[in-house]
Amino acid sequence: MTAMARRVVVGCFDPRIMEEMYNRAREGVPAGKVTFILPPGGSININARWPDLEMAICDLGADELWSFAHEDCLGCKKTYGEDRKDYHLKHLRGLETKVRKTFVTITQIRLFYMSRISDEEWVVEEVNSTVLLTA
Ligand SMILES: [Zn+2]
Repeated sequence: MTAMARRVVVGCFDPRIMEEMYNRAREGVPAGKVTFILPPGGSININARWPDLEMAICDLGADELWSFAHEDCLGCKKTYGEDRKDYHLKHLRGLETKVRKTFVTITQIRLFYMSRISDEEWVVEEVNSTVLLTA
């Protein structure tokens, strides 16, 4: 048997997305193997939490990175004055690029965007690099 993957998840601290994000982010991995890093805006503000990400990968041994962005995001509004999907996609892509360059131990990166139906209901779509590059 191969060793169980360990995952680090970068997402936003918005409580409205928490249940849906947690459920999705723990897919295929026990709760005890997932580290959550949740700055406002997620990947938009990951630089402020970079030491935590580094610790999750280098010290806790996470080999998978998943990142979630979402619609109607306060972190994006605070940073850019408005919430726009293309800002989120740009930062998701930037995080992927930086992590790939910095941490050779990462074997999987998956990126997600959550669209708001209501504060309780979100649609999670996986976005890949090809989509991000043309966004
Ligand atoms: Zn947010």
